[in-house]
Amino acid sequence: MLLINGIKLRPDEDEDKLKDKIEKKLRHPIRSFEIRKKSLDARKEPIYVYSVIVDIENEKRFLSRDVTLYTKENLRPEYKERNCICIVAGYGPSGIFAALRLMEAGFKVHVFETGKRIREREKDVERFFETGVLDPSSNVQFGEGGAGTFSDAKLTTRIKDRYIDYILDSFIQHGAARSIRYENHAHIGTDEIRRIIESLTDDMIKNGVIFHFEEEMEEIILNERREVTQIRTKKGAYPCDHLLLGIGHSAYDTIRMLKKKGVFIESKDIALGFRVEHPQDFIDARQTRSIVETANEYFLRYKGDKGVYSFCMCPGGIVIPAMSDEGTIVTNGMSYAARDSGVANSAILIQIGKDEFEDGYAFLHGLEKDAYRYSDSYRALSQNIADFMEGKTEPLRFPSTYPLGTVLYDFNSFFSERDCRILKEAFLDFDRKIPGFIDKGIMVGPETRSSCPIRIRRNEHYESINTGNLFPMGEGAGYGGGIMSCALDGIRIANELICRHG
Ligand SMILES: Cc1cc2nc3c(=O)[nH]c(=O)nc-3n(C[C@H](O)[C@H](O)[C@H](O)COP(=O)(O)OP(=O)(O)OC[C@H]3O[C@@H](n4cnc5c(N)ncnc54)[C@H](O)[C@@H]3O)c2cc1C
Repeated sequence: MLLINGIKLRPDEDEDKLKDKIEKKLRHPIRSFEIRKKSLDARKEPIYVYSVIVDIENEKRFLSRDVTLYTKENLRPEYKERNCICIVAGYGPSGIFAALRLMEAGFKVHVFETGKRIREREKDVERFFETGVLDPSSNVQFGEGGAGTFSDAKLTTRIKDRYIDYILDSFIQHGAARSIRYENHAHIGTDEIRRIIESLTDDMIKNGVIFHFEEEMEEIILNERREVTQIRTKKGAYPCDHLLLGIGHSAYDTIRMLKKKGVFIESKDIALGFRVEHPQDFIDARQTRSIVETANEYFLRYKGDKGVYSFCMCPGGIVIPAMSDEGTIVTNGMSYAARDSGVANSAILIQIGKDEFEDGYAFLHGLEKDAYRYSDSYRALSQNIADFMEGKTEPLRFPSTYPLGTVLYDFNSFFSERDCRILKEAFLDFDRKIPGFIDKGIMVGPETRSSCPIRIRRNEHYESINTGNLFPMGEGAGYGGGIMSCALDGIRIANELICRHG
């Protein structure tokens, strides 16, 4: 195989032309090719630049500065029957990819998940969005696929890791578009990620993974050496050699149980805030790129006395109720693959140091409950950004996409005086970068589950520092944030166990 960099296409040229261009460059017919990377060079006339992997006979004849040999690494583990039971508690991205890899390596894998399978979960989430009746164990946070299932399914990460290809290939095998391998800021959309995860689960079931949906791990059982030997659910006790804990950041009861069992858990800094929404055409008109490829995104960051930044932007998306506990309000964002709601939303978060609260979960939960009390319903709190700047509450410039409705609220009462000052400085800064950001935008919140307030500390072998056989992973353990980083964390732990068991 060959890797060829620098194949160019004008924006009006179809990708079908790539084969001709490659053959022209090599002056030889090729057998097949695959796009590896696609980027937009907008320095002069905008042009797409591709890196491609090419299958051609006598490949060494074609080597040059832009054309090098390429060998695809086999990232699948070696299969061996291993007499070792791994329990995976929590089936979000970390749990999915840990279970998948352990299965491929021949471990006996049991998955326990509080929530339901996706088809049932979809009905519960839809019912909640339509009627405001929340099921605390089947919602946007809990169920097959975890928190990212009702999301934009953005696959961006700053982490460089060879296993990113393993994750993307697994998604592609189960129905994702091949372009997620090479598009900048690839996203799958909530509609498609649900079907992909369902297919991954069905495949694992066929390959011997035992799933226990709607069965929450309620207790871990330790021996005298403080090693996990079993877990307990309402239905019974299950022995295990290793427990992989991928419970996400909303499982407060499970964290309380782990604390009671003496598992070492420390506090960490968090970020919290609200969503802002703007008409998508306003964001598109302000975009700096010379080609509008899809609904546009922005990334904003302000460094004042504290950091304030945009996060998890959902162009053409909707703001959703993302709570898992009754009597609380939590917002988040999601979009469908087409990103065509006409409204852009993004979280705007301010950093909160761990010295600003005693118990992070209790602090966040308190804010979520206060929001519910104010709203007296699941309607989200809302305000025009311009009114927040002046401490007023006037009717919203346009209705929020949040499906359960909104109540007007002055977010100046939500944050400390200092944080309000910093947020206002940040908005002025964002308005300089995107003129109109303040006047055109509305705030909807609160957004409290964008980061986990704890870390279940682990050693260099990914095991809890004071509890043997316990492998905390993903966002809820404080080792990831986002689909890709949590999936990678699950893979890291699976690799550690594969290594241990030879
Ligand atoms: C609405 C929304 C949109 C998002 N959009 C994006 C996005 O576009 N891109 C992105 O990268 N990230 C996004 N995220 C963040 C991303 O989804 C999370 O970072 C990621 O899912 C965390 O993965 P995880 O494996 O750590 O845990 P989670 O995905 O949170 O999964 C944990 C699972 O554990 C289960 N569980 C909890 N306790 C127990 C127990 N005791 N026993 C058994 N099961 C238990 C829960 O039911 C849950 O299903 C979004 C999150 C939300 C809520």
